[in-house]
Amino acid sequence: MLGAGEVTLRRTGGGWREAEVSNQSTGYCPDPDSWPAVAAALDRAGVVRPEGFTHAPVFRRCERCRENNVVREGVFVCVFCDADLPAAWNLRPSPS
Ligand SMILES: [Zn+2]
Repeated sequence: MLGAGEVTLRRTGGGWREAEVSNQSTGYCPDPDSWPAVAAALDRAGVVRPEGFTHAPVFRRCERCRENNVVREGVFVCVFCDADLPAAWNLRPSPS
């Protein structure tokens, strides 16, 4: 499985170099754990890549109000309703 997100490629003298990799995605919010899948895909494509996501926000869905949160500074509290957020990643692609 390939992690959803954004990869920005920048052309350099030697070929493509990836300028930025992020797991931020509007439709699907993967955990930073999806990095190995992204890295493997980039390696197959021959892209020089960093050692990890350049931005790796942690997403959690509030189980009380169902809003998606970006966890800031390790504080697992919903910014919308102050409920505790689960420790484990709990987002799934929403059916469309
Ligand atoms: Zn909430």
